Amino acid sequence: MTSDRTEAYNEEHWNEVCESLRGEIGEAAYQSWVKPMAVRAVTNGVARISVPTRFMRDWVIAHYADRLGDLWGTVDSTIERVDISVQSDRSVPASDEATLSPSQPERKTHTATPEISYTTISAPLDSRYTFENFVVGKPNEFAYAAARRVAEAPSVPFNPLFLYGGVGLGKTHLMHAIALHIRNQDPKRTVIYMSAEKFMYRFIRALKEQNTVDFKDMFRNVDVLMIDDVQFIGGKGATQEEFFHTFNALVDQGRQIVLSADKSPSDLEGMEERLQSRLNSGLVADIHATTFELRLGILQSKAEQFNVEVPQKMLEFLAHKITANVRELEGALNRVVTHSQLVGREISLETTQEVLHDLLRANDRRVTIEEIQKRVASHFNIRTSDMHSARRARSVARPRQVAMYLAKQLTARSLPEIGRKFGGRDHTTVMHAVKKVDELRECDSSFAEDVELLRRMLEG
Ligand code: ADP
Ligand code: MG
Repeated sequence: MTSDRTEAYNEEHWNEVCESLRGEIGEAAYQSWVKPMAVRAVTNGVARISVPTRFMRDWVIAHYADRLGDLWGTVDSTIERVDISVQSDRSVPASDEATLSPSQPERKTHTATPEISYTTISAPLDSRYTFENFVVGKPNEFAYAAARRVAEAPSVPFNPLFLYGGVGLGKTHLMHAIALHIRNQDPKRTVIYMSAEKFMYRFIRALKEQNTVDFKDMFRNVDVLMIDDVQFIGGKGATQEEFFHTFNALVDQGRQIVLSADKSPSDLEGMEERLQSRLNSGLVADIHATTFELRLGILQSKAEQFNVEVPQKMLEFLAHKITANVRELEGALNRVVTHSQLVGREISLETTQEVLHDLLRANDRRVTIEEIQKRVASHFNIRTSDMHSARRARSVARPRQVAMYLAKQLTARSLPEIGRKFGGRDHTTVMHAVKKVDELRECDSSFAEDVELLRRMLEG
């Protein structure tokens, strides 16, 4: 089939594709669906991928096949199609390809009613994710208080508790903290914590194994049901329906539900309206982006946990530079500490910059709209407040357009988001500004230079 050389070559492409996909779909989905896949061969423009089970094949085809094809096409332009088939380690390649009939059992030997109990279905909890280890600051104090309340209250204080916020800001940490606390206080209370993906996976598997009665019973007999990252439930008809019923049944019985998502219930895509309004009917608590103070507090606490002396100046430097989220911040500190222990040198600004050069560069490139507004305003000698004002004189309107243009170029913000940051302007105004600046750059070379200069200064 393929020689070793091309196999290594394919493997490399595959790894690249996987990495991109991981970035797009997140760690949890990656581990569940992408990691178990293996590249078998690439022949005549067809990349052949194998997965261990039929269920996974159907799932991957339904959710990731198109994207896989696109991504692979970008790393290897000879690829025209991705073929996904089932192959357990011992079977002949692609043996049951095209036998999509659901009536054919996947593994007859395994259908002897698999044991489902709440202890096996609940995902393991990370014992470090406690309330004590959670650093509280302005951006997360409300979510923290709500989580504590749910964990400590003898009865259900609000239902559901819906936690939402961006990636790496502590949603999973707080959920584990609730579960750990309850299990500690009262081991008799059943707590199920699981990812929304797992919930769907289990549910669909139960459907196939005609075991939905047990499945439903299990959820309906639980005291606290926690489902993480429910944005993954959006748009999946039958699962959403089942989730809704399970949800209603639990709420009616006075059981506590805790959910997390990366968006507010109203912003969740593909979520049915009645489900949205039910989600909104409890307590919705959001975790905001971190502030410098919170980042510094977290670093201090982590440094203490490591039991290492990290100079205050260094912590401030990191808190200032690594702003994306707490996970990245933690990773940065880990790297710095590990490095210093390995080479046996004290932590200094120099070594930190050296160890983190890639991370620091990536963060440097993340310019904020506020910085853009400030820079552009000072460049054109106008007040920063004029970026938000209604004044339409050319002397302020033009710089404002330049700032909008740069915001579009240098940040990942959408047009409506940019508009909002410029005194609540409409997204069409931003669109117009982008077009206008592009036109002017074409016909006015000194204007083009100005814009270019600003762009370079902002990119650092
Ligand atoms: P999310 O689920 O919102 O993506 P996580 O809960 O997984 O984020 O948090 C990412 C990492 O950051 C975890 O290791 C978590 O312990 C840590 N973390 C987040 N917020 C805090 C905080 N306020 N105090 C201490 N650690 C935090
Ligand atoms: Mg999480």
